[in-house]
Amino acid sequence: MPDTVTMDKIVSLARRRGFVFPSSEIYGGLGSAYDYGHYGVLLKENVKARWLEAMVRERDDIVALDSSIILHPRVWEVSGHVEGFHDPLVDCRFCKRRYRADHLDQLECGAKPSKHPGETESCDLTEPRQFNLMFQTRIGALEETGLDAYLRPETAQGIFINFKNVAQIARRKPPFGIAQIGKAFRNEITPGNFIFRTLEFEQMEMEFFVPPADAEEWLRYWIEERLNWYLRLGIRESHLRVRPHEADELSHYSSATSDIEYLFPIGWSELEGIAHRGDYDLGAHTEGSGTKLEWVDSEAGERYTPHVVEPAAGVNRSMLAFMVDAYDEEVVADRERTVLRLHPQIAPVKVAVLPLIPRNEDISGKARALYEELRRAVVAEYDDSGQIGRRYRRQDEIGTPYAFTIDEQTLEDDTITIRDRDSLAQERVPISGARAFLLDKLAEEWKTPKAD
Ligand code: ATP
Repeated sequence: MPDTVTMDKIVSLARRRGFVFPSSEIYGGLGSAYDYGHYGVLLKENVKARWLEAMVRERDDIVALDSSIILHPRVWEVSGHVEGFHDPLVDCRFCKRRYRADHLDQLECGAKPSKHPGETESCDLTEPRQFNLMFQTRIGALEETGLDAYLRPETAQGIFINFKNVAQIARRKPPFGIAQIGKAFRNEITPGNFIFRTLEFEQMEMEFFVPPADAEEWLRYWIEERLNWYLRLGIRESHLRVRPHEADELSHYSSATSDIEYLFPIGWSELEGIAHRGDYDLGAHTEGSGTKLEWVDSEAGERYTPHVVEPAAGVNRSMLAFMVDAYDEEVVADRERTVLRLHPQIAPVKVAVLPLIPRNEDISGKARALYEELRRAVVAEYDDSGQIGRRYRRQDEIGTPYAFTIDEQTLEDDTITIRDRDSLAQERVPISGARAFLLDKLAEEWKTPKAD
């Protein structure tokens, strides 16, 4: 079946089921800010957990860090962000809108949405001007004595300025990495496309410090490794690609970058960037701070500034890709259903416990007991409201991989029905083995049943 997903369908599902709400809605909303509801939080937490697992827990060459959002303002001068963290913008003198000059082919004209800005006769675009993306704030109570500061536009700088602290106590020598997940803020002028591009978002960044001669090889390694992470978590191979940056797209700190792109409903777009940052950042902060950020091995008589390879991913954008890739519609027994075929390890809820006849106290008692047992191991839900078909559909829409149903037969032989979200196959297993069944299933490798 062809892919039926559109951004509108994702936005509507996200809202209907409480994944994501427009922020400040009762005040008319704030463009490009979103609030995450219960299932959105669980999904986002799962994305972050899988990243930390792959980056830190399953390896012994990467350690974790959580640095401040507001850093010393000098950090951003020295890093080049004050000078160079810009987007080129154009204004339309006719419709009075502002657009990113490098995204015109993806944007709608303000006066004629079926066209791109600049394509109609009345469009009158200015020359591109550079606009700094950092949000400014002020530290201190008094306007006169306060210090101008920035909300970090990336988590990476917090890692570079801690290089010495971490290298000293982590007892690791290059190649080794420092990983961080945290909020970043960008004053994006042409946001939109739901949570793809927002003013604040979470990044998952890892700076991998390597001997300079090995940097190219590590760049290739991390591109492969990160691509495989998305594939392992069920994203279809046909919807992922690696795109090396052209020389004129490179950030001010990078000598080579490749993007992992996903085929979103808006077209191929960046999901994650993997950059060769060279010794740009450690070198700049050494010069700017006077603290030598280098690797010293006194036994081997070695001293050098490591080069850095950085995989930088977005939590929210990954979450959107997982939802888009999982979204499916099908007709089963003449009824349409919408289902999120999420990898079970990403799915917000792992199992739903459903008493078939909630008014029957024996049935609901057994269902409650099973739910209490399961929720100690995984995120589980108990649902006794409405017809069973509606309860199944609700779980399908939030991507719950398994539903355990307790019915009259359970009272006779202590078995329950297990319903598989994707195949809709039902099997009966003893209630005593339900927990083990679930945990085994969740640990299995998983491949999406969606066609490529
Ligand atoms: P873009 O070209 O889309 O603006 P970028 O190249 O500036 O992105 P990076 O600086 O490489 O992005 O940031 C790493 C990751 O952080 C991106 O791949 C993306 O997943 C995420 N990201 C960046 N900006 C935003 C944003 N405004 N909203 C949501 N996620 C973002």
